[in-house]
Amino acid sequence: MTHIHPIPILNDNYAYVIENTGQAAVIDPGEAPPVLTFLKERGLTLTHILCTHHHGDHIGGVTELKAITHASVIGPAAEQERIPGMDKLVRENDTFTILGQEFKVLETPGHTRGHICFYAPSLKAAFTGDTLFSLGCGRLFEGTAEEMWESLQKITALPDDTLIYCGHEYTESNARFCMSVEPDNQVLAARMTEIKDLRAAGKPTLPVTLSSEKACNVFLHANKSARFAELRALKDSF
Ligand SMILES: [Zn+2]
Repeated sequence: MTHIHPIPILNDNYAYVIENTGQAAVIDPGEAPPVLTFLKERGLTLTHILCTHHHGDHIGGVTELKAITHASVIGPAAEQERIPGMDKLVRENDTFTILGQEFKVLETPGHTRGHICFYAPSLKAAFTGDTLFSLGCGRLFEGTAEEMWESLQKITALPDDTLIYCGHEYTESNARFCMSVEPDNQVLAARMTEIKDLRAAGKPTLPVTLSSEKACNVFLHANKSARFAELRALKDSF
């Protein structure tokens, strides 16, 4: 059995530990100590570290985790110079198998130039980093609205029952923005209720299904990149 555990780190980031029969991989460890504590508690051996992009809040723990566990680091070829200690560089449509699961690489530039997402079909899981958030999307630090729009289209082309595991717990504030854009969206209103209940109970709002995102995430409702750019600019000042 494979399990995916969200590990809250830093202020509002998640690292995700994938666990399978005593072994583990971690996605985007922005710091090492909470991940090490989790591995120790469950008696897991870390074999792989996966990186979506070079920002410090996603890779800050890579060097320490690698030094302690000797795990192999997999990340975007396009950010080779900006992520320390990478052992395997991956590109669009590359596949690799870890913990007995196949992962496919989607290049999703926009937030950073070389941002990638990892899709594991057998787990019905997509690790979307800072590209797709629940009810939002990443800021355009190194790319254009057009590029981010194309990147989001790659994610929405995945099966509707794909579970989205993103890099931050931004869902509640994202939901407020979405409601300001689509005040009459009843599915969104129901998701807001669910989000509030989860946060009140101290639980993550992730993962979320892609079908829920398609119904509620206003950035996915922009029917062309010009409208997407308009929404992204609105959200920047929301
Ligand atoms: Zn980032």
